[in-house]
Amino acid sequence: MSIRTDHPPGVIIHPLGPVPASILQHLAISVQDRCQISCLVGESMENPGYAQDPEREQYSCKRILQQLHRCCTPHSWQVLAVTEIDLFVPILKYVFGAAQMEGRCAVISLHRLRPQFYGDEEDEQLLLERLVKTALHELGHSLGLTHCRRRTCVMYSSTRIDDTDAKMADFCPTCRELFRWRLQGTG
Ligand SMILES: [Zn+2]
Ligand SMILES: [Zn+2]
Repeated sequence: MSIRTDHPPGVIIHPLGPVPASILQHLAISVQDRCQISCLVGESMENPGYAQDPEREQYSCKRILQQLHRCCTPHSWQVLAVTEIDLFVPILKYVFGAAQMEGRCAVISLHRLRPQFYGDEEDEQLLLERLVKTALHELGHSLGLTHCRRRTCVMYSSTRIDDTDAKMADFCPTCRELFRWRLQGTG
Protein backbone atom coordinates (compact mmCIF):
# COMPACT_ATOMS: atom_id res chain seq x y z
CA MET A 1 0.00 0.00 0.00
CA SER A 2 1.33 3.44 -0.89
CA ILE A 3 0.85 6.74 0.90
CA ARG A 4 -2.32 8.49 -0.25
CA THR A 5 -1.88 12.10 -1.23
CA ASP A 6 -5.37 12.91 -2.45
CA HIS A 7 -6.47 14.53 0.80
CA PRO A 8 -4.78 16.29 3.71
CA PRO A 9 -2.88 14.02 6.06
CA GLY A 10 -4.55 12.86 9.26
CA VAL A 11 -1.31 11.98 11.01
CA ILE A 12 2.13 13.47 10.53
CA ILE A 13 5.04 11.50 11.93
CA HIS A 14 8.01 13.64 12.96
CA PRO A 15 11.38 12.15 13.88
CA LEU A 16 12.57 13.78 17.09
CA GLY A 17 16.34 13.52 16.77
CA PRO A 18 17.86 10.94 14.40
CA VAL A 19 15.56 7.99 13.57
CA PRO A 20 16.09 5.62 10.61
CA ALA A 21 13.91 6.69 7.66
CA SER A 22 12.93 3.09 6.87
CA ILE A 23 11.37 2.73 10.33
CA LEU A 24 9.33 5.91 9.92
CA GLN A 25 8.12 4.90 6.48
CA HIS A 26 7.05 1.50 7.73
CA LEU A 27 5.16 3.13 10.58
CA ALA A 28 3.38 5.58 8.26
CA ILE A 29 2.18 2.80 5.97
CA SER A 30 1.11 0.59 8.88
CA VAL A 31 -0.88 3.36 10.58
CA GLN A 32 -2.54 4.29 7.31
CA ASP A 33 -3.36 0.68 6.57
CA ARG A 34 -4.74 -0.24 10.00
CA CYS A 35 -6.55 3.00 10.85
CA GLN A 36 -7.73 3.97 7.36
CA ILE A 37 -6.38 7.46 7.82
CA SER A 38 -3.71 9.16 5.78
CA CYS A 39 -0.29 9.32 7.35
CA LEU A 40 2.86 11.11 6.23
CA VAL A 41 6.42 11.41 7.47
CA GLY A 42 7.12 15.07 8.22
CA GLU A 43 10.21 17.14 8.92
CA SER A 44 12.90 16.10 11.35
CA MET A 45 12.95 17.89 14.65
CA GLU A 46 15.94 18.46 16.90
CA ASN A 47 16.75 16.20 19.79
CA PRO A 48 14.66 17.66 22.63
CA GLY A 49 17.48 18.77 24.91
CA TYR A 50 14.99 21.13 26.57
CA ALA A 51 13.14 18.11 27.99
CA GLN A 52 16.11 16.35 29.53
CA ASP A 53 16.05 15.63 33.24
CA PRO A 54 19.70 15.50 34.33
CA GLU A 55 19.02 13.41 37.42
CA ARG A 56 16.98 10.75 35.62
CA GLU A 57 18.98 10.90 32.38
CA GLN A 58 15.61 10.68 30.66
CA TYR A 59 13.34 13.07 28.82
CA SER A 60 10.06 14.51 30.04
CA CYS A 61 7.01 13.58 27.97
CA LYS A 62 5.12 16.56 29.30
CA ARG A 63 7.70 19.06 28.04
CA ILE A 64 7.93 17.33 24.67
CA LEU A 65 4.14 17.28 24.22
CA GLN A 66 3.94 20.99 25.08
CA GLN A 67 6.51 21.73 22.39
CA LEU A 68 4.85 19.48 19.80
CA HIS A 69 1.59 21.31 20.26
CA ARG A 70 3.15 24.17 18.29
CA CYS A 71 3.61 21.90 15.26
CA CYS A 72 -0.08 21.16 14.84
CA THR A 73 -1.50 22.45 11.58
CA PRO A 74 -5.14 22.85 10.61
CA HIS A 75 -4.67 19.98 8.17
CA SER A 76 -3.57 17.39 10.69
CA TRP A 77 -5.48 16.12 13.67
CA GLN A 78 -2.45 14.35 15.06
CA VAL A 79 1.28 14.91 15.39
CA LEU A 80 3.15 11.73 16.25
CA ALA A 81 6.80 12.16 17.22
CA VAL A 82 9.14 9.17 17.17
CA THR A 83 12.41 9.30 19.06
CA GLU A 84 15.30 7.14 20.24
CA ILE A 85 15.60 8.85 23.63
CA ASP A 86 14.23 7.34 26.84
CA LEU A 87 10.97 8.93 28.01
CA PHE A 88 9.39 9.34 31.43
CA VAL A 89 6.42 10.83 33.22
CA PRO A 90 6.92 11.83 36.87
CA ILE A 91 4.98 8.93 38.43
CA LEU A 92 6.58 6.16 36.34
CA LYS A 93 10.11 4.85 35.84
CA TYR A 94 9.69 5.02 32.08
CA VAL A 95 7.03 5.02 29.36
CA PHE A 96 7.01 3.61 25.83
CA GLY A 97 4.97 6.57 24.70
CA ALA A 98 2.55 9.27 25.80
CA ALA A 99 -0.30 11.24 24.29
CA GLN A 100 -2.46 14.15 25.23
CA MET A 101 -5.84 12.62 26.03
CA GLU A 102 -8.18 13.86 23.30
CA GLY A 103 -5.28 16.05 22.22
CA ARG A 104 -3.33 16.51 19.02
CA CYS A 105 0.13 15.28 20.00
CA ALA A 106 1.80 12.04 20.95
CA VAL A 107 5.39 10.88 21.37
CA ILE A 108 6.77 7.37 21.28
CA SER A 109 10.27 6.09 21.99
CA LEU A 110 12.17 3.30 20.30
CA HIS A 111 14.56 3.11 23.25
CA ARG A 112 12.80 0.31 25.16
CA LEU A 113 11.21 -1.27 22.09
CA ARG A 114 14.54 -2.49 20.74
CA PRO A 115 15.20 -6.15 21.67
CA GLN A 116 18.84 -5.21 22.40
CA PHE A 117 17.65 -3.14 25.35
CA TYR A 118 16.68 -6.43 27.05
CA GLY A 119 19.89 -8.20 26.05
CA ASP A 120 18.21 -9.95 23.12
CA GLU A 121 19.48 -10.04 19.56
CA GLU A 122 18.62 -7.26 17.16
CA ASP A 123 15.30 -8.03 15.45
CA GLU A 124 13.96 -5.41 13.05
CA GLN A 125 10.63 -7.18 12.57
CA LEU A 126 9.96 -7.36 16.31
CA LEU A 127 10.96 -3.72 16.72
CA LEU A 128 8.54 -2.64 13.98
CA GLU A 129 5.68 -4.66 15.48
CA ARG A 130 6.27 -3.08 18.88
CA LEU A 131 6.46 0.37 17.30
CA VAL A 132 3.17 -0.02 15.42
CA LYS A 133 1.41 -1.29 18.55
CA THR A 134 2.72 1.64 20.58
CA ALA A 135 1.68 4.13 17.90
CA LEU A 136 -1.87 2.73 17.60
CA HIS A 137 -2.18 2.80 21.40
CA GLU A 138 -1.20 6.47 21.62
CA LEU A 139 -3.40 7.42 18.66
CA GLY A 140 -6.25 5.69 20.52
CA HIS A 141 -5.61 7.91 23.55
CA SER A 142 -5.56 10.95 21.28
CA LEU A 143 -9.06 10.03 20.20
CA GLY A 144 -10.14 9.70 23.81
CA LEU A 145 -9.92 5.91 24.16
CA THR A 146 -8.97 4.68 27.61
CA HIS A 147 -7.21 1.42 28.51
CA CYS A 148 -8.94 -1.82 27.56
CA ARG A 149 -9.12 -4.87 29.81
CA ARG A 150 -8.58 -7.32 26.95
CA ARG A 151 -4.93 -8.36 27.03
CA THR A 152 -4.77 -8.77 23.26
CA CYS A 153 -6.28 -5.36 22.45
CA VAL A 154 -3.80 -2.69 21.47
CA MET A 155 -5.42 -0.38 24.06
CA TYR A 156 -4.32 -2.70 26.89
CA SER A 157 -1.88 -0.82 29.11
CA SER A 158 1.75 -1.80 28.53
CA THR A 159 3.73 -1.48 31.70
CA ARG A 160 6.35 -3.99 30.52
CA ILE A 161 7.49 -5.01 27.06
CA ASP A 162 5.86 -8.44 27.60
CA ASP A 163 2.49 -6.65 27.66
CA THR A 164 3.25 -5.11 24.29
CA ASP A 165 4.35 -8.44 22.85
CA ALA A 166 1.14 -10.12 24.06
CA LYS A 167 -1.11 -7.63 22.23
CA MET A 168 -2.31 -7.65 18.66
CA ALA A 169 -1.31 -4.72 16.50
CA ASP A 170 -5.01 -3.91 16.33
CA PHE A 171 -8.00 -2.77 18.34
CA CYS A 172 -10.54 -5.21 19.78
CA PRO A 173 -14.00 -4.88 18.15
CA THR A 174 -15.27 -2.53 20.88
CA CYS A 175 -12.23 -0.24 20.81
CA ARG A 176 -12.19 -0.29 17.01
CA GLU A 177 -15.78 0.85 16.85
CA LEU A 178 -15.08 3.64 19.30
CA PHE A 179 -11.94 4.61 17.36
CA ARG A 180 -13.89 4.84 14.09
CA TRP A 181 -16.67 6.78 15.72
CA ARG A 182 -14.29 9.28 17.33
CA LEU A 183 -12.34 9.57 14.11
CA GLN A 184 -15.44 10.59 12.20
CA GLY A 185 -16.02 13.27 14.82
CA THR A 186 -12.64 14.86 14.03
CA GLY A 187 -13.25 15.12 10.27
ZN1 LIG B 1 -2.00 3.97 27.52
ZN1 LIG C 1 -10.12 -3.01 23.40
